Amino acid sequence: MPGDFDLVKERIDLVQLIGEKVPLKRAGRTYKGLCPFHAEKTPSFTVDPERRTYKCFGCGVFGDAFTWLEKQDGLDAGEALRVLADRAGVQLTRRTPEVREHEKKLLAANDTALFYFRQALRGTTAGKAAAEYLVQRGIEPATVERFGLGYAPDIRDGLLLYLRKKGFTDQEAIAAGLVIEHERGLFDRFRDRLMVPIRDSKGRTVAFAGRAMRAGQPAKYINSPRTDLFDKSATLFALDVAKTQMRRSSEAVIVEGQLDAVSCHQAGLDNVVASMGTALTVQQYQMLNDMRLDREQGANARAIVAFDGDAPGTASAEKRGRELLRVIYSAPDRAGRGELGRRERLPVHVAVLPEGKDPDDLARSDPPGLRALLKEARPVLEFLIEQVRRRSDLANPDGRRRFLAETLPLLADETDPLTRDLYLGTLSRLTGAGEETLRQELAGARRPRGMERPPAPFSQGPGPARPVENGQRAAPSGQRELERYLMAQLVQFPEEAGRFELDPENLTDPDLRAIFELLRAGERPGPRYPAQLAAVAAALGASAPQPSDEDQAVRAIEMAAQRLRDRNLRQRIEEKRAARARGDGDIGGLDAEIDLLTDELTRLMHAR
Ligand SMILES: [Zn+2]
Repeated sequence: MPGDFDLVKERIDLVQLIGEKVPLKRAGRTYKGLCPFHAEKTPSFTVDPERRTYKCFGCGVFGDAFTWLEKQDGLDAGEALRVLADRAGVQLTRRTPEVREHEKKLLAANDTALFYFRQALRGTTAGKAAAEYLVQRGIEPATVERFGLGYAPDIRDGLLLYLRKKGFTDQEAIAAGLVIEHERGLFDRFRDRLMVPIRDSKGRTVAFAGRAMRAGQPAKYINSPRTDLFDKSATLFALDVAKTQMRRSSEAVIVEGQLDAVSCHQAGLDNVVASMGTALTVQQYQMLNDMRLDREQGANARAIVAFDGDAPGTASAEKRGRELLRVIYSAPDRAGRGELGRRERLPVHVAVLPEGKDPDDLARSDPPGLRALLKEARPVLEFLIEQVRRRSDLANPDGRRRFLAETLPLLADETDPLTRDLYLGTLSRLTGAGEETLRQELAGARRPRGMERPPAPFSQGPGPARPVENGQRAAPSGQRELERYLMAQLVQFPEEAGRFELDPENLTDPDLRAIFELLRAGERPGPRYPAQLAAVAAALGASAPQPSDEDQAVRAIEMAAQRLRDRNLRQRIEEKRAARARGDGDIGGLDAEIDLLTDELTRLMHAR
């Protein structure tokens, strides 16, 4: 919706919007106030009504109306657009006033139903039995409140009559998915079930899940049908309560069932959402991707999908892993908005629960165990290769051939050449097949696909952005951003410079490297810095977001440093490979070095 975007930006009064949170005073062409992103006594936070931007000359934060809402209210880009469009009176292209009115009606019907279900849990005899069931499941009253759990009485048209009484038409009750039209008349969709409201990311009730509580009920779960408010495959249950912690931890955990997610939150795992059935849909993955979980910390965001422990065999976990991989590869690369440039996809890891256990069981019986399992989650590709390895006989040539025939295609759609190479190395080690042979096999297996950009040649190095300028290999723009990000944090928290492991060589910019070495030696930015470096250090403050507190900064610093090491290792591996390909120097020695570096990279990828 590019048209909407510009129109909204045009119409929003940024001074008024920001003025609601920060008192602003006019100063010539701009407005000034105390920066909400860092502590200060004299105003250096400036709003420019003409350019429609804000900027702080103290901490360097800057942005527009959209990033303001994203930062202040924790909204994602789509939500910020909708909120601001509302405010500016801009009708987003796809929603006419009639549609908006209709949606409002359906939301109101859902709210009315929510009230009805919650009353029934407290006020009826059968509801008390449902409450008893919740107690047995270990769900505490505070959790019942937080998630708005309720009970649908076993009455044919109890909710229907209540909705009519509250002024809703039968058509509205049907359109909201609360009532079913049958040849014998109208029926409540949910009867004698524990009710779990499904809310969107803004906390609005858009649907319900009804869970059976006794044997003999036809389905364990009944969900609302697809309505104008609700599309199951594009909704993540509990996102409204999980998003803050997801951003804070740069990590999203996905479980299957709503009650799994409820139990996880009760156990203090606040970054858990439920996919409601399948492992993860493309739209759900896209939603997580759009949250830009790596934005605040500058590093290593991931989504962890928790698989229930299977019965013996684990064929089904493998199947779900393959499905997950397909989802990740079929999600289009996200187009970053301007300043952030091209972005990587959110990596997806897999955690497998012990046999016969689901997240609900573990969250209730062993929260630390569940945390440990999630922490050990492995990239989905690695998980799949391991699954195939376990059921393969690598001791005989035929088994190895079959193993390769199954695993090589898994790498075919991987667009990051170094990730691909890393796994080729794994396959080579497991089977004894030469890496070069495998690479050729893989090249044969890679089918060109219309939507994809052509794969970068292996020698070109990590990441897509790696321009070659004046015959010299420039650092990838991601690298430069990362270096500046890390150093901007360190200039603000200089005492952190000595507290983590990072070889200064990891910084490609000589000025940044010099500042890093000075900081590490205990020399804070000041008059004793050479003028050039003092200027760079001062400018650094204006290039990175201000962390909300010191803990967050420390974590951001650690993660950025880890990421730099990761990038650097990848680059060194590439260089050794290139040298080896050119026949430069001692081949055996290069091989050994490549092995060492690859091991180090593997360890780093797992260190969290
Ligand atoms: Zn500031």
